[in-house]
Amino acid sequence: MADFNTHVFTAAAAASFGATVCTKLLGLPVSTALLLTVGGTIGGVLPDIDLKHSVPSKILFAVFGAIAAIAWMFARLDDFSVLELWLFAIAIFLLIRYPLWGVFHQFTVHRGALHSLIAAMMFGVLTAVTGEHVLQLASAVSWLLAGFVVMGVIIHLALDEIFSVDFIGARIKRSFGSALKLLDTQRIAASCLILFITLVAWFWTPPITELVLLWKNNQTLWSELLLPEYFLRPAP
Ligand SMILES: [Zn+2]
Repeated sequence: MADFNTHVFTAAAAASFGATVCTKLLGLPVSTALLLTVGGTIGGVLPDIDLKHSVPSKILFAVFGAIAAIAWMFARLDDFSVLELWLFAIAIFLLIRYPLWGVFHQFTVHRGALHSLIAAMMFGVLTAVTGEHVLQLASAVSWLLAGFVVMGVIIHLALDEIFSVDFIGARIKRSFGSALKLLDTQRIAASCLILFITLVAWFWTPPITELVLLWKNNQTLWSELLLPEYFLRPAP
């Protein structure tokens, strides 16, 4: 399996490239480009969330705790005093980072059902829902963010699979085939739960039409967008 640094750097590189393309193509603000880069990078470590006592799992639960606490704080800004807001936010963060983290690891196995393509789809749908309802993003941006998270997850799975081949010795390690899979056939119940969560969450996703419209209205030539002008029009 690829190590943590490889996962973070590859996902961050791909996500920042993708975010640059989307920013140019769709005329997005820089803040959205940063959000997409962060989303793609988080996606790049997400499948290892079930690796207990690992850096990715602790960081991801801390990030989710912080997002939940901040989102709650801004949603209830008018209802509570500063001290109450602050104390509740800390409680939400600690609840997600410790008890929820512990419970999560009681039920998950590393490289199990969450290390699959159907889980990538679930992470994408959940991101679209979170973007719309928790982060209060525009529906087009929520779906773009979902796309970046899915891209990050698929890069992660592909990297793990690539690293399970020992290129120098031309041997295939025992982990080959366990990283990039459609679903975990060893754990059917867990795979069904993933499909069920995806299906239920789908009802809360924002409409995708806004993103399709944004895409259609910005039909720039890809070659003009990607390459410097002097490549396209050589000096006479
Ligand atoms: Zn992995």
